[in-house]
Amino acid sequence: MVSYADAQRLFLQAVFSRGIMSGKVANLLWEKCMNAVAAADDSIEFPRVRGKEEWGTFLVQVNRSIDSLDLEFRQFHDESSGKEMYALVNRKSDKIAQMATDYTPTEIMYFKALIEQIMLAPHESFCVSSLAALREVSIIKPKSNMSKAQAEVVLGSFVAKGWLLKTKQGRYCLSTRTLLELQGYLKNAYPDEFLECTICTEVLTRGVACHTKNCRTRMHTHCFIAYRRRRNLCPTCSTDWPRAPTDKPLLPVGEAAVRHGDDGKRRVRMRDVEDSEEDEFIDGEETPGPRSQYTREINKGKARTNYNMDIDKEDEEEPKSSATSTQAANYRSSRM
Ligand SMILES: [Zn+2]
Ligand SMILES: [Zn+2]
Repeated sequence: MVSYADAQRLFLQAVFSRGIMSGKVANLLWEKCMNAVAAADDSIEFPRVRGKEEWGTFLVQVNRSIDSLDLEFRQFHDESSGKEMYALVNRKSDKIAQMATDYTPTEIMYFKALIEQIMLAPHESFCVSSLAALREVSIIKPKSNMSKAQAEVVLGSFVAKGWLLKTKQGRYCLSTRTLLELQGYLKNAYPDEFLECTICTEVLTRGVACHTKNCRTRMHTHCFIAYRRRRNLCPTCSTDWPRAPTDKPLLPVGEAAVRHGDDGKRRVRMRDVEDSEEDEFIDGEETPGPRSQYTREINKGKARTNYNMDIDKEDEEEPKSSATSTQAANYRSSRM
């Protein structure tokens, strides 16, 4: 005997196996699940019309059934394309700990170091070069024996599993998966860097910023385009805006904001200059360590346009040897 609830169950199974999907695929799955259950017993009453309203009702029911698991099947928009997407999201902010099923503590430490570099990237560029990403291995060194070669493999895995995105220019940035699933972590650890779109209020790591000094307006490119069709003034400071999101004097957010010379510097690291106590940095805590807080204090009150990176070490020395062969062997065995 089948029932209407079976359609939800079928749908959830498909969702669990996919994680993230486009709105189109989600709708198709819904349709197929309904048809499959209807085919099994044609005495069941199903909504005849399958439009937006019925879809909405179905989503409410699906979410009700997974609510006790702290899961949510949530709608969002792809940051670059603005395309409607759906994902199964864990509402608990300690999601990063759940990466432990796939990664060793060292690898998670490395991932967090990368997230930090991406979140603190100058001029709201929210990305790191591959060289800078590998450089982080030497920073977590005292507590790890990961070599650069190993780090390269791990980086590839972060990209393959959808935690990081590698751009055409070879830079690493946060993926949709990370932005969705680790949103709680990002918000807690980087409250000053975490940006939300003025229009859709979803998280923003690429798009446009108003050029007025200290104006907090940030928009996804697709949100800007839709808004600009109706109005030509910034919704916050009412300054006149050019037509296209890439037109000057609007400022880019994301990879387009990278400036010449950014790559040679680590992200605001005054502590490293003052002393070399890196233990606090790698304490592996979920909450930001003293260094991060200090970093934010430095950042506060600084307009993005005159971001001063003088305090950074330029062209940091390459670490001498990455790991001895014994260390590499240890590292490998620790992964078994
Ligand atoms: Zn938006
Ligand atoms: Zn403005």
